[in-house]
Amino acid sequence: MERCSFCGRSAREVALLINGLSGCICDECATQAYNIVEEQKEMLHGSNKAAARQESQQQQTFDWSHLPKPTQIKEHLDEYVIGQDDAKRFLSVAVYNHYKRLGQKADKDGVEIEKSNVIMVGPTGTGKTLLARTIAKLLDVPFTIVDATVFTEAGYVGEDVESILTRLLQVADYNLEATQRGIVFVDEIDKIARKADNPSITRDVSGEGVQQGLLKMLEGTIVNVPPKGGRKHPDQDYIHVDTRNILFICGGAFDGIERKIAQRLNTHVVGYNSVQNIARIDRNDLMKYISPQDLKSFGLIPEIIGRLPVLTYLDQLDRTALRAILTEPKNSIIRQQQKLFAMDGIKLSFDDDALEYMVDKAVEYKLGARGLRSIVEAVMMEPQFELPASGRKTYKVTLEYTRAQLEKANLALS
Ligand code: ADP
Repeated sequence: MERCSFCGRSAREVALLINGLSGCICDECATQAYNIVEEQKEMLHGSNKAAARQESQQQQTFDWSHLPKPTQIKEHLDEYVIGQDDAKRFLSVAVYNHYKRLGQKADKDGVEIEKSNVIMVGPTGTGKTLLARTIAKLLDVPFTIVDATVFTEAGYVGEDVESILTRLLQVADYNLEATQRGIVFVDEIDKIARKADNPSITRDVSGEGVQQGLLKMLEGTIVNVPPKGGRKHPDQDYIHVDTRNILFICGGAFDGIERKIAQRLNTHVVGYNSVQNIARIDRNDLMKYISPQDLKSFGLIPEIIGRLPVLTYLDQLDRTALRAILTEPKNSIIRQQQKLFAMDGIKLSFDDDALEYMVDKAVEYKLGARGLRSIVEAVMMEPQFELPASGRKTYKVTLEYTRAQLEKANLALS
């Protein structure tokens, strides 16, 4: 009698018995065999997938060996940014470490280099954005600037974070891998500080909520980004951007933080005037002592401070620095003007006392480095209008001319 070669049951005991060359199989055993085959296939496929994933992760390990060393990064920054030596050093090291971190292999040693997001504290217009931008350009990584005040209560699921990442994707030409190791400069981080360092009494809930939104980004999260920006649309394919390896450089003026530093340093400050004096005279010296505690006193939540381990400061620009900014950086305002005129075949030059006068006005009206540009623009307005059609080959800007132009522009009322 024919029996199933697997379970031994006879044809009468099963619904179906299939004959083979030298044996038989019943319907139940055939079904079971089929399931075993499918399971095996699944397991094989899964491990292939895991292997493929691992391989692609290994391929993604960033090659940092060709990147400039910290001293080289600083040298490059020196070409574009005047002064701010401490900030340049901190940034160079932080950025270098960041890219080393991206290059680290999943070693057995258990050591994992953590992210080194940066916070720069310093008056407005002293070069915070310029530093971040210059570094991003040197490293040739996608770079975007956001204002911290866009982080709404909605938190990281709000549209704002997505639009930042959309921008980063766009500058990276939709290269996801490049986007995920880009640099985001978060400006005005001091504007989202809690109003008081006492959460239980003067709780400024909104400030804190906004900080929580930013925190998610800093910590690293996967954000579904609509590639074209704008509102989320059910039909649109999202790009999943992982912010874990994006370097965040935050900047803020933190007006009045010197007072917190002074308090902490236990400086003998008596009365309002003395505080003001310290702010004016010792401002730069005090800033040197800035520490994470001062950021906390100012109203940043400890979690945020913890995610911004590299803290550095920028000096107020003095007259010497402003004078240098006018002509020394590789793309200084004066060089830009000269290039504009050169394109019309005109050699533009400035008398030294004319340049000194412009700096004097910037200092006098406390306009800082940003003001220098408007001053130069005001002086150069007429020549830029008249000269291209004049056929002239040279043009020199004198002190008298500068003074007259600034008076006309109401920038030299004294
Ligand atoms: P911040 O971000 O600190 O408010 P920015 O970096 O935007 O200031 O500076 C504004 C402009 O002033 C820059 O584009 C640059 O032209 C000029 N500037 C400011 N600080 C410096 C500096 N240290 N060296 C050269 N240029 C500077």
